[in-house]
Amino acid sequence: MSLKIDLHTHTTYSDGTLSPSALVQRAYDCGITAISITDHDSLNGLQEAIECGKDLGIDVIPGVEISTDLDDKEIHLLAYFIDIENEEFQKYLSFFRDERFHRAKRIVRKLQNLGLHITIDDVMAQAQNSAVGRPHIAYALMELGIIKNYTEAFEKYIGDYGPAFERKIHVSPHSALKLISDAGGLSFIAHPGYMKESLLLSLIKAGIDGIECVHPSHNESQVTFYRGIVNQYCLLETGGSDFHGGKKMDDETLGKFYIGQNQLEAMRKMLHKYSA
Ligand code: AMP
Ligand code: ZN
Ligand code: FE
Ligand code: FE
Repeated sequence: MSLKIDLHTHTTYSDGTLSPSALVQRAYDCGITAISITDHDSLNGLQEAIECGKDLGIDVIPGVEISTDLDDKEIHLLAYFIDIENEEFQKYLSFFRDERFHRAKRIVRKLQNLGLHITIDDVMAQAQNSAVGRPHIAYALMELGIIKNYTEAFEKYIGDYGPAFERKIHVSPHSALKLISDAGGLSFIAHPGYMKESLLLSLIKAGIDGIECVHPSHNESQVTFYRGIVNQYCLLETGGSDFHGGKKMDDETLGKFYIGQNQLEAMRKMLHKYSA
């Protein structure tokens, strides 16, 4: 039987709707044998997930999805096997989450100026203590009855070209790559489907360890294309469902997007090489 390994998922510590243990349980029920929790800009769900994984006998790989940008384009990086106790890394993530909070307040102010009755408290009721992002604002707008569904929030207000859009603070992929390798982790370009090939190549040149080939936003020919790049440049391959718990109409993705044991073994080999 081939193993199902899902290295891209989100919990309530970012914009997912399941707690880390509920997510690990659900993955186990879907036949997933190893999982990475890759919350946006937070490692806080990992301990709970790792403990739950031990109970169930499912491997939980420490992960995180980091937001960076280059030339005004947002680039997500996935990092795996980071030392979750690494102080510099934790300090950076904590700073970035504070900045996310300030940005959420700026977005809310813009929404209020557009005449919407929403407050930062409505948003934080959705985000709780997690890394607050636009999905929480969309959930709050839904809860308040201002919009009918999740995508409407982006189409009308908070999408990249919407009237209430605000950027996150600028962090270059290059500085994130250094943070990741200093914390002992491996770095991957997340869901590159939207990216120009020149940008992909510049990230490879900057020292990325691998590419997320399997992702719900990639069609079959894209998966083949990215696997070709991985082979050509001797990189690692990752993949997963980017499951957020169903609220983003992604209920069906868990258990359907995964990589196999060979890819995970290749990552472990690379880690050994780095630490030798
Ligand atoms: P943030 O990190 O706060 O900028 O939020 C980014 C997240 O919002 C992405 O990971 C997507 O899940 C979601 N998102 C961004 N644009 C859209 C869109 N047009 N429609 C639906 N979801 C979106
Ligand atoms: Zn997300
Ligand atoms: Fe992403
Ligand atoms: Fe994601």
